[in-house]
Amino acid sequence: MKYLIIGSGGREHAIAWKLAQSDTCEKVFVAPGNGGTAIEKKCENFKYNSFDQLIELCKREKIELTVVGPEAPLVDGIVDVFLNEGLSIIGPHKEAAMLEGSKIFSKDFMKKHSIKTAKYESFDDYDKAVEFIDTMEYPIVIKADGLAAGKGVVIVTDREEAIDNLKEFMLNERFNEAGKSVVIEEFIEGLEASIVTLFDGEKIIPFISCKDHKRAHDGDCGPNTGGMGVVAPNSHVNEQIMDDFINNIMEPTLRGLKEDKLVFKGFIFFGIMIKEGVSYLLEYNVRMGDPETQAIMSLMESDFADVLMSCMDNSLKIEDITWKDKHCCAVVLASGGYPLQYEKGIEMDYNDNLQEGSKVFFAGAELKDNKLITSGGRVACVTALGNDSNEAYNKAYESIKNVEFEGMFFRNDIGK
Ligand code: ATP
Repeated sequence: MKYLIIGSGGREHAIAWKLAQSDTCEKVFVAPGNGGTAIEKKCENFKYNSFDQLIELCKREKIELTVVGPEAPLVDGIVDVFLNEGLSIIGPHKEAAMLEGSKIFSKDFMKKHSIKTAKYESFDDYDKAVEFIDTMEYPIVIKADGLAAGKGVVIVTDREEAIDNLKEFMLNERFNEAGKSVVIEEFIEGLEASIVTLFDGEKIIPFISCKDHKRAHDGDCGPNTGGMGVVAPNSHVNEQIMDDFINNIMEPTLRGLKEDKLVFKGFIFFGIMIKEGVSYLLEYNVRMGDPETQAIMSLMESDFADVLMSCMDNSLKIEDITWKDKHCCAVVLASGGYPLQYEKGIEMDYNDNLQEGSKVFFAGAELKDNKLITSGGRVACVTALGNDSNEAYNKAYESIKNVEFEGMFFRNDIGK
């Protein structure tokens, strides 16, 4: 069977790597892919400028299934376009993609279906937003309604900061249309967890839990990034938290999706905050997370191609998805300066003589004249498995020694 993965990050490298391990997999196209997928067994990169070129590829190569990595093509309606062409694709149609594409849509969905979340109001009028913040206690959270590449959420600690951000979002249009409407919500202090799930249109099946590390520097300091590392399973997601999540977040979400006719086949990522034993839903993503996917693919024992195919034909069962009895630590290697300005085009030193159970997934790296060259902020994600979290941590940091480029930095405390 042949697959198409859309995207160019470490997440897409991990999906392609895992699918390529399936005996039934003949080839994985990755569009546009990166330097890692260019050298991965059974994988081939495919550059494209339009959905039409992807459709043409799928028809020509008789691709069985397309998996979409990032949110932008989903929000742009790629799933509807593929389905209209009779092509098999995993992901939400355009309307359901609004669960990620609009924070107002997703918060209203949560409220309507009694899904546990932070209290909030939404505004498209600046003066009314200011009136509302005067009724709140600090800190508060201000969120741009639309997609803002992970930069549209600020936690503010006083009125001045709140007003500055509201002005920037709503009047000065820092995020163009995306910030003209905002969600203002109560701040919940707790422990974060990511739970990626697979929805087959009938049921939602949770994968192993993860803990993401969003801040750029050790000790959760510095600016927010796309994610600097992840550990799985998340030690805070014990049986009681998982039950609470399933009963108060996942099941009501399933009922809501059916009631609102937002049924699709695809991934649903739940970003949750755990406070005093109760989980609150912060956000939905309608795709897998990055770097969560790198850990999930490394820990999945089952054949991922079988998992996806049984999702497509509605025969997916939770017991069919098995996990290695291991812990995973995944550390992102970034370009100096990321998430602000950084240099690109730097040649990397890499040898794949890694610790057993380790793998380097590439992201902002391209292959030129058989050399890996940096091309983005998050360049690679070094992923390692261990019998416990300590062993996974030690192996990941030992394996990092196999990758080097000028300006490279990473957090030293992922999973410590
Ligand atoms: P991502 O980059 O993961 O897509 P996003 O921009 O869609 O994120 P959210 O996940 O909603 O936005 O928020 C980003 C981060 O802000 C969260 O990971 C969390 O750390 C923090 N956050 C969001 N809402 C709250 C809240 N109500 N209370 C406390 N922290 C919050």
